[in-house]
Amino acid sequence: MRCKTMIILSITLFLLLTACQEKRQYTEPQATKAEREEPSTKQVVEQFATEDPKLVLARERMVNLDLKGRDITNEKVLAVMGRIPRQNFVPEDLKHRAYEDSPLPIGYGQTISQPYIVALMTQELNLTGNERVLEIGTGSGYQATILAEIVPEVYTIEIVEALAKRANATLQKQGYKNVQVLHGDGYFGWKEKAPFDRIIVTAAANHIPPPLLEQLKPGGKLIVPLGDITRFQTLTLATKQENGELDTRFITGVRFVPLTSKALEK
Ligand code: SAH
Repeated sequence: MRCKTMIILSITLFLLLTACQEKRQYTEPQATKAEREEPSTKQVVEQFATEDPKLVLARERMVNLDLKGRDITNEKVLAVMGRIPRQNFVPEDLKHRAYEDSPLPIGYGQTISQPYIVALMTQELNLTGNERVLEIGTGSGYQATILAEIVPEVYTIEIVEALAKRANATLQKQGYKNVQVLHGDGYFGWKEKAPFDRIIVTAAANHIPPPLLEQLKPGGKLIVPLGDITRFQTLTLATKQENGELDTRFITGVRFVPLTSKALEK
């Protein structure tokens, strides 16, 4: 009798163990169909998993002190700048300085603008999220990326071919399909893609290039550092009235690398 009980108990235990094991195998995490079809979520997770935690903290500090701590209040601008890894737009040896409150060299004598100035210019464009935007001076592609996160269409022109190529590669690698990079002289704008709701010039000019004004929609806004191109400029916001006249507003003093153009040499 005792032996019979032992045998029954052993069989029960064996069955229970097998069931548990099967259950464990069955509940092994499997990607759901939705997860498999959602590569962007995976990419975001990977990005944060591979990002240096020091840089994540530095970005947080930048948003809180350098942007919110000044006059950046636009929620979209703050969210996007708090998310985009600026270190992906600077040379390898400067990555640890990506969130400093200053411009940084990107080669070819050019710079990526100070984060605060990127935020300020984007905020002043007063984007609703439906605009076609033209940028003159692609540089690293960082400003174009910030714009591409907010609006559906970004066109950007860069005069240094190597920079245009590199920025295009950076944007492609990060999956931006709504930005088109053109190697050319931005002084003349991009006639085939005009008109634009907003134009942002990220190099210093001593006048607003007339072709850019022509390619701006009535009611559209153009922002440009205007002044002495070798020294200081005033960040200027021009709004094109319905009758074509310009309404200009001076924002603050800035210092940008100059807009170089055959048109300006004459
Ligand atoms: N917006 C850039 C920084 C701009 S630096 C960023 O986010 O990184 C200014 C850039 O304007 C430089 O790359 C310079 O080569 C470019 N540039 C100067 N003159 C130009 C012109 N006429 N047309 C297009 N790009 C020009």
